[in-house]
Amino acid sequence: MLGPSCSTHPEAEAGWRCSTCGSALCRQCAVSRAAGYGRIAVCKLCGGAATDIRVRRALKNPFTVQTLREAVRWPFHKEGFLTSVACALVLWIIGTGALGTLLAEGLVLATLFHVTTSTARGEDTFHAPGDFRGFFEDILGPVIRAAFASIWAFGPVVAYVVFRRGSFFRNGDLLQPTGPEAAVVLLLLLVGTFLFPMALLAGALGAPLRYLLNPLVVIGYALKLGRDYVLIAGFALAISLGESALLSLLLFVDRTVAMPGVVQYTILLYPPLMLFRALGLLVRARGDELGYGGEEQYLVPVLDELQPEPQQEAQPEMAGSASVAPAPVLAEIELPHEAESMPPALALARRVTSSDVEGAVEVLRRAGKEVPPAALSAQAWIELSKACLQRGHGQLAILALRRAVEIAPEGPLAPHAFLQTARIYEENLGDRATSDKILAELIERHPQSAEARFAARRLQVHAARGP
Ligand SMILES: [Zn+2]
Ligand SMILES: [Zn+2]
Repeated sequence: MLGPSCSTHPEAEAGWRCSTCGSALCRQCAVSRAAGYGRIAVCKLCGGAATDIRVRRALKNPFTVQTLREAVRWPFHKEGFLTSVACALVLWIIGTGALGTLLAEGLVLATLFHVTTSTARGEDTFHAPGDFRGFFEDILGPVIRAAFASIWAFGPVVAYVVFRRGSFFRNGDLLQPTGPEAAVVLLLLLVGTFLFPMALLAGALGAPLRYLLNPLVVIGYALKLGRDYVLIAGFALAISLGESALLSLLLFVDRTVAMPGVVQYTILLYPPLMLFRALGLLVRARGDELGYGGEEQYLVPVLDELQPEPQQEAQPEMAGSASVAPAPVLAEIELPHEAESMPPALALARRVTSSDVEGAVEVLRRAGKEVPPAALSAQAWIELSKACLQRGHGQLAILALRRAVEIAPEGPLAPHAFLQTARIYEENLGDRATSDKILAELIERHPQSAEARFAARRLQVHAARGP
């Protein structure tokens, strides 16, 4: 369970929180009701509007091996195929000569980067990138970014070899080391290969170039992503090995059956599409930790696919139908220990709706101050105040009346609640000063009401009688 559990059903996951009574609501405790063009979740307990309980996407849809499997499957749909063919045509037609190669590679890289960013934004089908912005942004930019990122793969090794002026391997064969320093070289190669996807990802997301070479940024983010980064780095390695194998295979096939270049390019573009899709999925899950977009964008409803049950529309009366059975009388149900575990507002609403007057007074006595006005209607508050008064709880009766005013200050019952409050102060608690104050407030707030006229007469009598 990612979020809180339901206030009523502790075994069920809550997907909404009532903004009126504060209860956490499961699917059974919330209904969805039409509101404008959409639907809102409504609390079944008090009728208040409920809002989605949200959790970080990384918790709800974590980045896993399953995510990587989806990334492998992803290019095998129509858009994936068309993208591969389009890129292959670009490489095949204009990818000759220095400038042509640069143009073609830039366009292909821009497309791949676009796969990552659109995936990160939550898109699952491929949309063509927006308008061509210019040679530097859309051609040279991606090439430079990819080149900077690939410095990570080979930079440390090349730097070390140049620095030590050594040849650590016989004939440059990694399987034939000449001395212990070869281990350092292999280690650097490994570290570089491990960090390369992080730099590539930063490049695809459009991070400034100086970030791509900054070890603090690249290593820092890799550490932050932890296990998920190990997954993506392993995946990137597998993809590049797969690409090499695919290339060898195509060369082998090409020697026997001549394959058009465009077909070869199309096939070779599938592994990179998988890698850049996987990078996008990693950002989709954990981009908030990479500073990609605001934290708000990474909060998702904990029960997103599960809408609360739509409210049952009232059944139309079937006039003259003798077969309609009389509505069954609901049996009283016993809910043990609910009052202790439930929020007071909820417990009170429960008692009142099940006509348990004793129980309702008890909840009010125990935790009345914590119960918000919206837990009950003005009418129900006034009824409850009568019940309190009958049981000799004058202060509780006043509290209930105050809530009746608070829930509907301008409502038709407010003057009545004021007057009752004043009467309880005077007649039950012997506090005439407070009573007079409330009568004055009643006159001021609801001057047109019959209660106000009554209050005015009463104040006159009090004034004539003296303190
Ligand atoms: Zn509620
Ligand atoms: Zn529930």
